Amino acid sequence: MRGPGPPHPEGPVPLSPVIRSRMQQQRRRDTVPELAIRSAAWRLGLRYRVHLSPLPGVRRRADLIFPTERVAVYVDGCFWHVCPIHGTLPRNNRDWWAAKLEANSRRDADTDSCLRAAGWMPLRFWEHEDASEAAQAIATAVKSRGSTHR
Ligand SMILES: [Zn+2]
Repeated sequence: MRGPGPPHPEGPVPLSPVIRSRMQQQRRRDTVPELAIRSAAWRLGLRYRVHLSPLPGVRRRADLIFPTERVAVYVDGCFWHVCPIHGTLPRNNRDWWAAKLEANSRRDADTDSCLRAAGWMPLRFWEHEDASEAAQAIATAVKSRGSTHR
């Protein structure tokens, strides 16, 4: 399962082993918070589909999808999506990374506006957020979108 990062996370020139291992760790860890939120949501009785693109033209697949309620949940990695608390810019190839990460943020905003325009509700969580709180927020959103007739 591929993380949400760019296809060439190494950057334009070889990075130091330290940075490289941090990048790899970051990508591996991407799926852990997602799984935590998924299982917390499942325990709340929510039923969802995973890793689907909600709409044609929306490139980034949502991590949890509620097709009936049209809710799309994204769990954003702190590094790749520039979390205000943990977002950092690698010292090597700083400009390249700045452009890359800014493009990620811009794509996230585009995805959200595409979804809203099509009547979907995008929900985003940072990977550092508490999984059960995130699941509660998802449950509230899904309920507000009329899950009663499911
Ligand atoms: Zn964070």
